[in-house]
Amino acid sequence: MHDRLKDDAALPLWPGCKKASKLSAVLTLYNLKVGHQVSDVFFTEMLTAVSELLPDDNVLPRRTYEAKQMLKSIGLVHERIHACPNNCILYRKEYATFDECPKCGLKRYKTNNSPSKVMWYFPVLPGLRRLYASVEDAKNLTWHHDGRTKDGMLRHPADSPQWKTFDDTYKDFENEPRNLRLALSTDGMNPHRLQSSSHSTWPVILMIYNLAPWLCMKRKYMMMSILISGPIQPGNDIDVYLAPLVEDLKLLCEEGIEVYDAHKKTSLG
Ligand SMILES: [Zn+2]
Repeated sequence: MHDRLKDDAALPLWPGCKKASKLSAVLTLYNLKVGHQVSDVFFTEMLTAVSELLPDDNVLPRRTYEAKQMLKSIGLVHERIHACPNNCILYRKEYATFDECPKCGLKRYKTNNSPSKVMWYFPVLPGLRRLYASVEDAKNLTWHHDGRTKDGMLRHPADSPQWKTFDDTYKDFENEPRNLRLALSTDGMNPHRLQSSSHSTWPVILMIYNLAPWLCMKRKYMMMSILISGPIQPGNDIDVYLAPLVEDLKLLCEEGIEVYDAHKKTSLG
């Protein structure tokens, strides 16, 4: 998949084009689509119109579906998972084919066949991999170890006793400063404002405490990993929704994933 991405990044938008590759053109246009929240149908029409204005042998995708397929390998995709409205289970794995909740018996679908409750999972591993692939970001990820002032003052979680206790307990983890220290944060918001006072959406944001304080709260470095939508707030049942994220983080923690560190020019497992 990554080979295909490399090919698309190297392929000029049309033979001889110096300004844009197939990948850069799709990313520019897709950013506009997302920024202005235009529909897939509109985007397909726009792609067709733009490619008709370009030289005949251009390689710009003509359909939204093709553009999305290209972007899939960068990790700009999400999983849409149905959930029980009472927050008992997610319809995945052993429950993937169920039509009603095995715990409370509520139906998975409403009478109009739409799911009763939905969550979205945005896989975090591709994003973390990308950080290490950038020379600047890979260097930033070791700030907690080699960039901060260590004078006993509290400026960052790395200065806290809890951080030190963790390091003392898990020496192997501490010995590799590039290992990730992550934090999760969530809160409810109502995207429909006054139209529906009972509706709430819960984004779950992942933050990276390896980074300096002036970077770790920047939007670029915060990852929205989960979005839970529905009339009932998840409250303490939020663990149910965290399952896909926890599985990825466990993989990271227990087995590790191989990434390329562009700063130190080595692979890190
Ligand atoms: Zn249930």
